[in-house]
Amino acid sequence: MFGLFLLTGYGSMNEFLNKRGRSDTDLCGCGRVENVWHIVFECGLYDEERKSCEWPGWIGEEEKRFERLLKSKEMYERLMRFVERVFKKRRRMREGVKE
Ligand SMILES: [Zn+2]
Repeated sequence: MFGLFLLTGYGSMNEFLNKRGRSDTDLCGCGRVENVWHIVFECGLYDEERKSCEWPGWIGEEEKRFERLLKSKEMYERLMRFVERVFKKRRRMREGVKE
């Protein structure tokens, strides 16, 4: 769960913020509920980042498979690169800066 811990450490998912009254929506920019799983595996807004980091995207429904994946150092590093790019992009989107 270390990877997930890192991800949630950013604390900026709308699902999380919305439950705490810090965001008026729990949705992602693509219209689905925004949480760690959605961003790491599903969201089309980050396809480009996923591709450039060779992160595989959706790998199955069980958390266990995710944990197994992260036992590989290589995959873990890919995920961390992906996450870094995603959060940079999110910050830019939030500030309304065009890429
Ligand atoms: Zn999305």
